[in-house]
Amino acid sequence: MDQVSAKPRVATVWLGGCSGCHMSFLDLDERLLEVAARMELVYSPILDVKHYPRGVDVALVEGAVANEDHVRHAWTIRERTKVVVSFGDCAVTGNVTALRNPLGSAEPVLQRAYVETAQRAPQIPYEPGIVPALLDEVKPLHQVIPVDLFLPGCPPSADLIHLALSELVAGRRPDLSGGRIRFG
Ligand code: SF4
Repeated sequence: MDQVSAKPRVATVWLGGCSGCHMSFLDLDERLLEVAARMELVYSPILDVKHYPRGVDVALVEGAVANEDHVRHAWTIRERTKVVVSFGDCAVTGNVTALRNPLGSAEPVLQRAYVETAQRAPQIPYEPGIVPALLDEVKPLHQVIPVDLFLPGCPPSADLIHLALSELVAGRRPDLSGGRIRFG
């Protein structure tokens, strides 16, 4: 059973991204302590939590949806979270992760990454099934689940993350107008 907490329960999630958005999150530096005092981090790549908990208030979701595990994970997040934030350009648009889409399917990627590479490095054989099945088309998060807020940037700046998270844990929708957001 999940713990009952008076503080907003926050999750950060890493789907098909490079982890740069999470690095920018960590760039909050000393402000992490200030934000951490106002929330409970219940799920994140920086925690050793295996399963996405119920009753999450805010989730920052980095990365595009690129494989079948991502699809299942995205729906679990949606069902268990009040405010889902599309966190960074890969989540918002597909961005770098979607660069393979013009190839038309997952097959050329698998061939190059696992078959041809394995032939050059036979000590690392590819075993079908050891990685989740890739989707033929990488999708931004909102094309898979409903999203409540978009936080673009590659990555979003630490200042923008601080603004958004501070407002969200206070139960407010952040004001991202006035040129505060940018892509890239
Ligand atoms: Fe990495 Fe940029 Fe994608 Fe974030 S938006 S996961 S920094 S490529």
